[in-house]
Amino acid sequence: MLTYKNSVVTFVLVISALLALNFFTPVHVGWFLLVTLLFLLSLFYGSYFINSGFYLPVECRSVKNTTDVALTFDDGPSALTTPKILDILQSNNIRATFFCIGKKMQQHPELVQRIDREGHLIGNHSFSHHFFFDLFPKDKMRSELRVTNDITREITGHTPYWFRPPYGVTTPVLAKAIRSIGMKPAGWSLRSYDTVIKEQNRLVSKVSEKVKGGDIILLHDTERVTADSLQLIINDLKNKKLNPVRLDELLNTKAYA
Ligand SMILES: [Zn+2]
Repeated sequence: MLTYKNSVVTFVLVISALLALNFFTPVHVGWFLLVTLLFLLSLFYGSYFINSGFYLPVECRSVKNTTDVALTFDDGPSALTTPKILDILQSNNIRATFFCIGKKMQQHPELVQRIDREGHLIGNHSFSHHFFFDLFPKDKMRSELRVTNDITREITGHTPYWFRPPYGVTTPVLAKAIRSIGMKPAGWSLRSYDTVIKEQNRLVSKVSEKVKGGDIILLHDTERVTADSLQLIINDLKNKKLNPVRLDELLNTKAYA
């Protein structure tokens, strides 16, 4: 399996072998560059494909044969769109998972309370969701996770166990930060692209064409198109006899720390 550890070990071994070979017969510098390039490509792959499990194991779907799926909503809460999403979930008697941003929770504690009161799971999606979050040092990342956990606990009484990395990017530093505070990283198996797609029909078919039992579906409760399409997505899941549940229920784990 392609992991960070395997990649580093392979890189060191191959470079060492080339250096040893170079001792007996000249090795063209291009070989060293090629091996370095492949190593850097593996790091890029590991950082940007969250379900690669490159830096740390990330839960991206249920491995069981199941008709359950998890609807997950990132980047909220938003005063404009989260209430509509909650209304739709409530009227369909569906429980979902919200990966909330700490600073937005501070702005809308009443929405966080509502999410919790209506039986949804709340996960941690960092405090700032800063564009350069992936480049933060470990202590700063850990502080983002801790502060967001504290805010969630102050509002709901629960401490999040699940963490979803901003932009789905993982790095060795983030892996250490997550491990050091004992949280569990969550990815997804089905990306809806609801931050890019603006037409309701396209979004519904994007999910509908690929969805299968066990999927963790990535959505955003900050997008108008998501709020407008959610009922149709739910109707489609019902037609396919798929049953939306919370992430902890899908993966049979604890909900909170
Ligand atoms: Zn996000």
